Amino acid sequence: MSTIAAPTQSALSRVRARLRSLRRAQVILIALCSALVVITLWASAMVVSNRFMDTLGTRAAVRSTLYTNSIESVLSTYTVASSLLAQDRLLVGALSGAAEDQIRLILGNVQSTTGALSISLYTAAGGLVADTQPEGAAINHALAPYFQLALEQDISIFATVAISEVEQRFFFARRILQSGTILGVVIIEVDLASVQDEWVATPDQVFVTNSEDLILLSSRPEWRYRSLSPFLDPLSAQGAGRFALLPMLNLEPAQAGQRVAIDGEVYLRVDRPVEFRGWTVTYLAPVAEVRERVRGVLAIEVMAIAILASLAFFQISRRAARQSLRLKRESEELRALNARLSSEIEERLKVEQSLQAAEESLEQSSKLAALGQMSAAISHELNQPLAAMKTYLAGAQLLIQRNRPGEALTSFQRIDDLITRMGAITRQLKTFARKGGTDLLDVDLRASLSSALAIMSPQIGQSNIAIVRREPEHPVMVNVDTVRLEQVLINLLRNAIDAMRGQSDPQVTVEIFAGPQMARIQVRDTGPGFEGPPSALFEPFYTTKAPGEGVGLGLAISAGIARDMGGSLTARNGRERGAVFELSLPRVTGRPERGSGDHE
Ligand code: ADP
Repeated sequence: MSTIAAPTQSALSRVRARLRSLRRAQVILIALCSALVVITLWASAMVVSNRFMDTLGTRAAVRSTLYTNSIESVLSTYTVASSLLAQDRLLVGALSGAAEDQIRLILGNVQSTTGALSISLYTAAGGLVADTQPEGAAINHALAPYFQLALEQDISIFATVAISEVEQRFFFARRILQSGTILGVVIIEVDLASVQDEWVATPDQVFVTNSEDLILLSSRPEWRYRSLSPFLDPLSAQGAGRFALLPMLNLEPAQAGQRVAIDGEVYLRVDRPVEFRGWTVTYLAPVAEVRERVRGVLAIEVMAIAILASLAFFQISRRAARQSLRLKRESEELRALNARLSSEIEERLKVEQSLQAAEESLEQSSKLAALGQMSAAISHELNQPLAAMKTYLAGAQLLIQRNRPGEALTSFQRIDDLITRMGAITRQLKTFARKGGTDLLDVDLRASLSSALAIMSPQIGQSNIAIVRREPEHPVMVNVDTVRLEQVLINLLRNAIDAMRGQSDPQVTVEIFAGPQMARIQVRDTGPGFEGPPSALFEPFYTTKAPGEGVGLGLAISAGIARDMGGSLTARNGRERGAVFELSLPRVTGRPERGSGDHE
């Protein structure tokens, strides 16, 4: 069954192969999409990162300029303030002998106006005239090197004083000159710490270094007073002794461009020179910020891609679900078809088996039928001579009673002939059953006709039938089994007699034609003819006669005999009336001779 259902199996495997190729295509599509996504993300990360770095650079430049400006403005304010103070009449007056209280008041006003931390006034000899420095934190400036420098130069001297390792103070010193005489020195303490405090409040990383790379101010308090350069000469720095031991702020160059790393964190570095004693403002923009923003953009991109991908996957999976549903339906249909095929095959096998059984029983039946046919044929063929014998015997009895033994003897001779004939018939039936085995002889068709007419003469006589006989004058030789040929002719004659029973002028015409190849003998009667197709007449057991009168075998056997002798037996109805039976047989000599007209 599995071999017969192979077409559906192959269809199933086709369905599976389609599924496999679909899956392969999906895998390739997913791989391609993934590669595309990775490339897109990488490219956009590069573009976005460059854009953000540019923005960062611009912002750093702007911010550093702002810081530079702010520190420059503070420093220039004090520079200007110190030079203005040096020319102040009141201060000059104070140095010329004003009361200390009054001077202190003047200095306090100036301090609050300029925002300075303190203002100190010294005589040129270094004597303190007045001081707004808080008690305890006061510095004696007269001993400091910048005091001397101030006395010597007519400019504002800037000084840095290291109070401790983590604190410096900034001063501007300027001499006070009147009419070429140095009266004293005014020292203003600059409040850079407040500037720095503002910076600390911002998130920016910014610091100011002096010309020796020492960080003076920084938004990160822990960076203050660190050195950027390892080659700082401690002796040249202000308060060198103290700062030499300070730790460095290590700015390692990182990656390309202006990038530096501090404690592992990378910054974009922008340096701006301050127009003041070689100072520099350094602004550090954290690159991590760019990374954060790039990550943010990437996260948005990834989210968008994920949404797109999930939409695509949703669509694909819906399509795949639809497809797999269809394939499932197809395979179910195939399976159903398979099952139907299998059951049909089973049915056919059953039918075949029952057909075989029927054939077997039919064979059995046809054997039985053949047996019946044979016994019917025997009784049929023997009935004629038996009837004739009965007539002859009755005749012989009558003749003996009338003491006419000579004529009775003739009757007995006829009876003997008939017995011989019956023997021949049974023999012939045997050979008919066996098919073949009989001896063929060259016989004159006319002689066979005479013999048949002689056998039928009692019936012909009884029925008052006129026999018209036409034949060539020369012998018409055929190669036949005599007895069987006569049997055919007797059958035809008997049927003709039967057909015309009860008719007023029954007539049978028997005519022999000698054709070039074939000899024909026609038996025509004046009866009603037959109904239906002629072929029906030759069917075994076809009869229109009453039961006991006919069995429907005569023509079937006769046609068989004609065929056996290489000829044929045909039937048709006459033009006007009656039936015409014609027996054709191959002639022995091929000489065309015609003894009679070809008419009915
Ligand atoms: P049976 O004579 O036993 O019926 P046959 O085979 O000899 O069997 O004939 C079969 C049938 O053919 C007859 O029953 C008859 O109907 C028809 N038939 C035969 N010869 C003639 C004829 N000469 N005229 C009309 N019908 C005929």
